[in-house]
Amino acid sequence: MDRVARDPSAGLCAQCRHRQEVRNTRGSTFLLCRRSRAQPERYPKYPRLPVTRCEGFVPEPAATDHP
Ligand code: SF4
Repeated sequence: MDRVARDPSAGLCAQCRHRQEVRNTRGSTFLLCRRSRAQPERYPKYPRLPVTRCEGFVPEPAATDHP
């Protein structure tokens, strides 16, 4: 599964609907910010984790189902 993307040590990205898990050919997993496609000047493609503050953060629906 997406251990990196869901890992609490990823900070906000772990619960953000804009994250995407990317796996390379060697099996390493990276967290990609999909907001970087439209606004690369504001959002790095591969954010330095943990992300503790982010204006683009939008919680996933599942994250808000369990207050
Ligand atoms: S918008 Fe911010 S919190 Fe969401 S994945 Fe991108 S960098 Fe992480």
